[in-house]
Amino acid sequence: MTDTTTTGTTATATTGTGPVTTGTEAAVPSTGGPDDLKVVIIGAGPAGLTAAYQLGKEGATATVLEADSVVGGISRTAERDGWRFDIGGHRFFTKVKAVEDLWHEILPDSDFLLRPRMSRIYYNGKFFDYPLKPMNALKGLGVVEAVLCVGSYLWARIRPPKDQTSFEGWVSSRFGNRLYRIFFKTYTEKVWGVPATEIKADWAAQRIKNLSLSKAVLNAILPRRNQKEITSLIEEFQYPKHGPGMMWERCRELVEAQGSKVVMEAAVTAVHHQGGRAVAVTATHDGRPTRYEATHVVSSMPISTLVKIMDPPPPPEVLAAAGGLSYRDFLTVALVVPEADGFPDNWIYVHDPKVRLGRIQNFGSWSPYLVKEGRTCLGLEYFVFEGDDLWTSDDADLVELGKRELAALGLADPAKVEAGYVVRMPKAYPMYDGSYKANVAVLRQWLEASTPNVYPVGRNGMHKYNNQDHSMYTAMLSVENILGADHDIWSVNVEAKYHEEKKAGE
Ligand SMILES: Cc1cc2nc3c(=O)[nH]c(=O)nc-3n(C[C@H](O)[C@H](O)[C@H](O)COP(=O)(O)OP(=O)(O)OC[C@H]3O[C@@H](n4cnc5c(N)ncnc54)[C@H](O)[C@@H]3O)c2cc1C
Repeated sequence: MTDTTTTGTTATATTGTGPVTTGTEAAVPSTGGPDDLKVVIIGAGPAGLTAAYQLGKEGATATVLEADSVVGGISRTAERDGWRFDIGGHRFFTKVKAVEDLWHEILPDSDFLLRPRMSRIYYNGKFFDYPLKPMNALKGLGVVEAVLCVGSYLWARIRPPKDQTSFEGWVSSRFGNRLYRIFFKTYTEKVWGVPATEIKADWAAQRIKNLSLSKAVLNAILPRRNQKEITSLIEEFQYPKHGPGMMWERCRELVEAQGSKVVMEAAVTAVHHQGGRAVAVTATHDGRPTRYEATHVVSSMPISTLVKIMDPPPPPEVLAAAGGLSYRDFLTVALVVPEADGFPDNWIYVHDPKVRLGRIQNFGSWSPYLVKEGRTCLGLEYFVFEGDDLWTSDDADLVELGKRELAALGLADPAKVEAGYVVRMPKAYPMYDGSYKANVAVLRQWLEASTPNVYPVGRNGMHKYNNQDHSMYTAMLSVENILGADHDIWSVNVEAKYHEEKKAGE
């Protein structure tokens, strides 16, 4: 057995080929100074790398353990044969100034593009502006359907749906059942893979709070008033010129320059605790388990898995709550086509039930640096469950499916597809189903009582529908907590504000 003790204040590691051995150095609670900290960070996505970077600025180093071979997590930029594309498309937009400042600290301004946003909904062979514009939507629907939609909206005002805790009830009450069915139901069910009645309204509240048909109409009729109150439903956004992965690749370099370690392909398999604190983390790298002693653990791995790998394990009811959390997985079929066969939108929502793809990106519209001369790359997005028919299909079959669906939609000529690539992303979306809140509460309570020095951060780390900014912010505040502050991390991103709405002056 070889013992590897890292230098500086990074966590102490003990490597073994057999069963995990007890570490050589006991972890101790922090005595206050950054030098005393042995922080182990699980995951090199936005939250994990942000935590490491912020610690580094305070003079503390950390060990980041990342299961994958690339950094950035869901915010990575995939690269295939020189084509770069996102998992989804990652806009950089935030109301949190500290995060905005951090983005520009990590990357120079010259690496950011300010991109115009264009997105539409494809439904029934027609395109509708998104965010929805009442006049455009009503025109696209035709006079008869438009009248029926307005009638259905008025009916919802008179007789609001009884159950507004579900996505269906919540949106129908604000837009009427008919518009809900046209513009919200199909896509939402594609995203989540379950009936919209089973999705909690929390998701809608985070996405479309404050918007209703009457407000949307008012905004359209009274543009001046609208401009004063709401400056944007985001007409432009920042974007690193080589994609979001660029930010996290750079952040990794900065973190390593600060003296921290980023260990790739090191999947965390156990978090050891004793005496009411986490004391070490085991990760498997090259088939060999390595134990890292820790005074603090920042975890961006899915909170359900974190609880399941606790050593000793939590009681059965806590494990049952962990088992009760579910996820929606995601895969992208990236197709290279001539630039002329692309479209001006950054992305198009495909509500049409005749195809399985839910959304399609044109990465050439995101950044000219992602694509090559004369050609663009379209990202066809499929919302799936790990292990289902699409997830387990051969890449070649998925590329063929993508081509067929492009043809069915009339969006691009499949004969002109030059190359195709598939990227799968497990656990892309934490599910907001009927029991998620209660399950998360059980896990949170147990972690706080049993291992208060474990800090769940980020998106799956907290089972919260966080974008990069809120994922990063939870990491920033957790670092402050490690250094003595007392922030309530769980209150980040709970205010149910429409996340794309920005008040003038903000
Ligand atoms: C389709 C889609 C589109 C999106 N669009 C946007 C957007 O436009 N703008 C935006 O800001 N955000 C967007 N997001 C959200 C954004 O991707 C996430 O908020 C962000 O990546 C979360 O960061 P994180 O560090 O919390 O988690 P992740 O990105 O999930 O990173 C977690 C890391 O932990 C690692 N890990 C997991 N388990 C282990 C283990 N056992 N051991 C070691 N490592 C482990 C993973 O490999 C991963 O690298 C989008 C998400 C999706 C799915």
